[in-house]
Amino acid sequence: MQTALIGLAVVASATAIVIAWRWSRTAREIARGLDELRRGLKPHRVRAVASVRLAATFNDAAADVHARIAGLEQDRQQLNVVLEALAEAVIAVDPRLRLLFANAGANRLFGLDAGSVGRLIPELIRSPQVQEAIEATLLLPAPQAYQSELILTSREGNVRARCLAVRGTPLPGQPSPGAVLVFRDVTELRRLERMRQDFVANASHELKTPLASIKAYTETLLDWALHDDSVNVRFLERIDEQAERLNLLILDLLSLARLESGQEVFDHRPLDPLAVIEACVEAHRDRAEAKGQEISLDLERFADHTLIRADEEAVRQIADNLVDNAIKYTPERGSVRVRCWSDLDAVVLEVTDTGIGIPRDELPRIFERFYRVDKARSRELGGTGLGLSIVKHLVQSVGGQVDVTSRVGVGSQFVVRFPRWIPPQSSPALEGTAHQESPLLP
Ligand code: ADP
Repeated sequence: MQTALIGLAVVASATAIVIAWRWSRTAREIARGLDELRRGLKPHRVRAVASVRLAATFNDAAADVHARIAGLEQDRQQLNVVLEALAEAVIAVDPRLRLLFANAGANRLFGLDAGSVGRLIPELIRSPQVQEAIEATLLLPAPQAYQSELILTSREGNVRARCLAVRGTPLPGQPSPGAVLVFRDVTELRRLERMRQDFVANASHELKTPLASIKAYTETLLDWALHDDSVNVRFLERIDEQAERLNLLILDLLSLARLESGQEVFDHRPLDPLAVIEACVEAHRDRAEAKGQEISLDLERFADHTLIRADEEAVRQIADNLVDNAIKYTPERGSVRVRCWSDLDAVVLEVTDTGIGIPRDELPRIFERFYRVDKARSRELGGTGLGLSIVKHLVQSVGGQVDVTSRVGVGSQFVVRFPRWIPPQSSPALEGTAHQESPLLP
């Protein structure tokens, strides 16, 4: 009996030890699985040592949690790529104006970096307007958004001020844990809007001036001057002049509109531009000589293969506008020199005059539509204010470049570079090339 009891006790103890061992092993495996989950690893499958149900429940739950974490991580990465790819600057801040997040656009715009996260906005972005936008957003109830436009001046003051459209939204939560603000650079857009408004105002004004003259002369003729032989022919000549001015203006406007809208169809093909430039100078020779000006043409005869790829009419208009201006803005007995040569990658057209010159601070603006240094003088000389604008567009259309240097009272020099046409499968290095230095201004 005693032996039986001892035997029973041994069996019971052995069973208890086995059960305890199984549960402890299961607990250890579950702990390992949880640790793997915490570290973002795929948890191993817990074996059914103590309880089949417990192991199965844990394995299902662990696989589910792991899949969810992986899904969240993938979403987070996608969101990050989207935010980084945005041209807009995006920042998130907490209610105490501490930076929580900044995308690449914000880093570029505000000069932030990885170390900026966690720091206070007033330390990072020294713009009262940006702070105001953030504070105003933080005060809004959740679904509402803050919108405005602000000017961001650079910290060093050496970069142009930017015009930014800002949209701020409070982060969801009660109380809100912060706000997210998106800044869009609209500097270029606003500049174009201003240019369009200026253009409409300028064009209307330019059209109105000759029209007003035509109307005034016509009314005078109808009133009393029609049969007064001392004035009637002169008045009709004025009407004819003004009508011609209107005509030129409308032709230039149409040409510019076609160029800007890309409707102008060019036939860019290999072209030797010398004949076109020569014809253009000859067409202006009488006018120059009537002003007592010396007009000279200096063409370097190119090697056979030196051609450009351009529409002949485009080259004619470019040369025509530049030579016309040189004659127009050079006083009597001055000189106009046209040179053309080729270098390694371009055919260069240079028009130099000894005219009135252009003030240095006006130089960047003379290619703008209707921009004239001296409005009255340009009109008196028959200018429309559109010639250089047309030149700029035509030069761009052939992939070239136009530059100007000028000194007031000394003269101006316009240089157009037409890219050389490279025949298929030939290297420019093998072709005959010539190079000449451009002489300095007179
Ligand atoms: P415009 O019809 O008035 O000549 P453009 O667009 O051809 O218009 O030129 C714009 C302005 O640039 C002119 O009004 C003039 O003030 C200046 N300009 C252009 N070419 C010359 C030049 N060769 N010498 C001096 N000023 C020039």
